[in-house]
Amino acid sequence: MPKPLKQKKQKKSEKAEKENKASLQSPKGMRDILPIEQPLWEKVKKASQDTANFYNFSKIDTPILEKAEVFERGIGVSTDIVEKEMFVLKTKGGDRLVLRPENTAGIVRAYFENGMSHMPQPTKLYYFGPFFRHEQPQAGRYRQFHQYGFEILGGEDDPVYDAQIILAGIRSLEELKIKNLSLQINSVGCRNCRQVYRRKIQEYYRRFSAKICKDCKRRASVNPLRLLDCKNEKCQPIKEDAPATINYLCAPCRSHFREVLEYLDGLNLPYSLNNFLVRGLDYYNRTVFEIFSESYPGALGGGGRYDYLAELLGVKKSELPAVGVSFGVERIVELMKIMDISGLPKPKAKAFLIQIGKPAKKKAFLLIEEFHKAGIKVIESLGRESLRAQLKVADKEEVEMALILGQREVFEESIIIRDMKNGVQETVPLSKVVDEVRKRL
Ligand SMILES: [Zn+2]
Ligand SMILES: [Zn+2]
Repeated sequence: MPKPLKQKKQKKSEKAEKENKASLQSPKGMRDILPIEQPLWEKVKKASQDTANFYNFSKIDTPILEKAEVFERGIGVSTDIVEKEMFVLKTKGGDRLVLRPENTAGIVRAYFENGMSHMPQPTKLYYFGPFFRHEQPQAGRYRQFHQYGFEILGGEDDPVYDAQIILAGIRSLEELKIKNLSLQINSVGCRNCRQVYRRKIQEYYRRFSAKICKDCKRRASVNPLRLLDCKNEKCQPIKEDAPATINYLCAPCRSHFREVLEYLDGLNLPYSLNNFLVRGLDYYNRTVFEIFSESYPGALGGGGRYDYLAELLGVKKSELPAVGVSFGVERIVELMKIMDISGLPKPKAKAFLIQIGKPAKKKAFLLIEEFHKAGIKVIESLGRESLRAQLKVADKEEVEMALILGQREVFEESIIIRDMKNGVQETVPLSKVVDEVRKRL
């Protein structure tokens, strides 16, 4: 019975094909940014770059891989990022490297390694690039994601820098015409006042130790500030009445925070105080904040002051005043789609080059280079043969002129310039076509 055998074989190869396809998909939580989405990305890049230029932030690119210690020491071993979310790899030489989960620690590393601390302070840096966290993918959250950010390092711990970081962040979103922005802000104090607060919140949570979630039980002893980060349903009512950091600030922290708010008031920048905002990383002190849009669930970005990070990394014996902000580009792009904000338009071509027949195609191929040299964008459809098919593309691209090179024109060393609006045609010598097109622009 040869027939069923054949069918079975076919099924087997179909299955293999399916498996093959599955193994050739992008890794979980990582995706392709397709050409259709790129104009939105270009617009975000431009808005962040323009904002950086205006407020005098200089661009920095740090490696995508950093030594694991950079994050273990900087972000803190008891944080979700370091505990569960880092992509760690061991090199053949035995180094433990990490695909960067964020950029602040890497930037502080680069700041000292490249002697930026010896230059006039503060140093203002801007970045845009990919980051990696091994977490459960969900809407707006990917394992490879992109952020841009602004950092001010060195100098004084002047509250004006906190305000400027917040301002630059908000301006970059406004540049994109993102509306209904809101700012939530809090102060988590310094080492001195945080000790007092730690005790207070531990005392408070001790009363509810039977009711809180497993994570919070652990947080209460390891990293009590992070109790306020808990999203677990059953911890919410307890969290609501928890002591607020802001009520336990020492005098210098209180006046620092007041000054930040005064700068924001001066700008007429509305904000709301959020007692639960702590941003769970070890390196934050004093000001922490997050920026939202009414039209998007979840923060578009956030940041804060991180005066202790250099010390935590072991690159400096004392504090390095620093403050920064970062934004999730995927979220911003998603929001632009929701708000119907268009991307950066592609530079328009002025002319469309049409060729009919093989000798014309050869000439056209070379002629494009003449236009390239002259800096005039000309597009073509070299794969198409018929005049009609090519004119159709030219129409769709909304070019002003079509340049038509047929057999006769090749023979006569000429070319037809056709005005796409009124259909008027003119034949000019091929050697003059670049100048003739330029005249018509
Ligand atoms: Zn303090
Ligand atoms: Zn909890």
